[in-house]
Amino acid sequence: MPATDRLYYSDSHLIEFEARVLDVTERVSGWAAVLLNRTAFYPTGGGQPSDTGTLNGLRVVECIDDGEKGVLHVVQGATPAVGAIVKGRIDWPRRLDHIQQHTGQHILSQAFVTLCNAPTKSFRVLDQSCEIDIELTNPTTELIERAVELANNVIWENRRLTIRNVTAEEAAALPLRKEPVREGELRLIEIDEFDLTPCGGTHAYRTGEVGMIAVRSWERAKGLTRIEFVAGGRALSDYRRANTSARAIAGLFSAGRDDTPSLAARMIEENKGLQRRLRALEQVAIHVEADELIDQAEVREDGTRLIVHVFEDRDADSLKKLAQALISKPKTIALLGSHDKDTARLVFARSVEAAGDMNALMREACGRLDGRGGGKADMAQGGGSNLQRLGEAIDLAAKALETIW
Ligand SMILES: [Zn+2]
Repeated sequence: MPATDRLYYSDSHLIEFEARVLDVTERVSGWAAVLLNRTAFYPTGGGQPSDTGTLNGLRVVECIDDGEKGVLHVVQGATPAVGAIVKGRIDWPRRLDHIQQHTGQHILSQAFVTLCNAPTKSFRVLDQSCEIDIELTNPTTELIERAVELANNVIWENRRLTIRNVTAEEAAALPLRKEPVREGELRLIEIDEFDLTPCGGTHAYRTGEVGMIAVRSWERAKGLTRIEFVAGGRALSDYRRANTSARAIAGLFSAGRDDTPSLAARMIEENKGLQRRLRALEQVAIHVEADELIDQAEVREDGTRLIVHVFEDRDADSLKKLAQALISKPKTIALLGSHDKDTARLVFARSVEAAGDMNALMREACGRLDGRGGGKADMAQGGGSNLQRLGEAIDLAAKALETIW
């Protein structure tokens, strides 16, 4: 016989109880585990988190199912003596939340069985929502919304839940939603004319207590369909968060909440068009800029034009495009640098008929910038972290070119 009489089996709404302390042991965490002869505290199990609450005012942080032995109440502070009579009190808002999620899961799982013969393989109560993994190969919005509608109708019909204790033989003759995982006498939870399944958790008296079920999202996972849902108070919290986000977005558009998806889609399309237009204009601007730099360039005796310039706030891509525009002119060499946030950028380039090894010049210059770079004889790129030496690195590259002219 189990040492602890589990009061939550017969009454899921029992909040206060008195019990005798059977044993007190120390946990690895340094906290104590109190074993009682009876308890209303539900221990972690079956996808449902543990209750919390108090024992004689001591905080019960978790309850652990110790099988045959019973339920261990993990407490902080001075523990009661063995043999003492203690007063237990569970946190009702937390219990009600678990009742809503857990009973909601029974209803939603049966809705998927009723509509598409898709049994539930696992269930988890998470921090803000819950998950079930069901055997459904082709989830569609329409099918999932039909299941949600059926589940909510069952909730609003306020059907009674009944606990039935049966033998294994009796259970074998009943249409259970899932196979029992334990042997011997079984505890069945029946939702009037809707669902019958073995379960050791805490449930609503009537389905109306669940309030409402909403599906937040779903995805295919490990050959199953994972459905994220919320029930009861969590559905209200989730609605509040969703409504707050939707209204904040609507405020940015100065529009009604439900008009924003089409407005956002239109804005994204417009933005793509603007990006394309911007790139085209940048190309035009870069050629205008290149022409101006060429006009100002010094021309060597052999007709080679040398353009040396350092820019503020110019990224590597823009620098390279400018270099390409410059060397599209004959006999042109461009030694370009830029302060790009915390990085010094360099692009050295020359047109085909100009002389000079841009790759060698780049490697030398990047050494001065504590960075790296390279490329080909006519086009090389690089950079480094030493921004102070950017000007010096470019000047030295220009001087090195003097030696070959
Ligand atoms: Zn259950």
